[in-house]
Amino acid sequence: MHVTLAWFLLIVVNGHGVWFLRKDPYFSENYNTDIYTALVVVLIGLAGISHYRCIKADPGLLPKKEKPKKKIAKGEKTCERCFADRSNFEPRVHHCSLCGGCVFKMSHHCMWTYNCVGYYNKKYYLLFLFWTFAVI
Ligand SMILES: [Zn+2]
Ligand SMILES: [Zn+2]
Repeated sequence: MHVTLAWFLLIVVNGHGVWFLRKDPYFSENYNTDIYTALVVVLIGLAGISHYRCIKADPGLLPKKEKPKKKIAKGEKTCERCFADRSNFEPRVHHCSLCGGCVFKMSHHCMWTYNCVGYYNKKYYLLFLFWTFAVI
């Protein structure tokens, strides 16, 4: 739902902005509206690509494990919820209840991408933000 909403806002708001600017006599006298329109379309496209890659990329989920038979000892570096072995990744691992797994270098769970922003997709996430604000 949020993904659709994000796209709806991005396209409608910017489409509106472009439409008004093209109608504005001052703007069209001083700037080339066709170049501006093309620029906005390209920026929306770039935002879309990084958004898509951010959703599809693996944020750095640790492999889940079977529930161990014995109780997890206090000092053991095993996640209490998904039983992933965190011993090589502590303390930069967080469990995300929405993704149902432990994510390496988790930043936050982003509702706009239905994904965690972690070590592996931080780049796409930042690109997405960058292009989105460039469009605005
Ligand atoms: Zn976990
Ligand atoms: Zn998550």
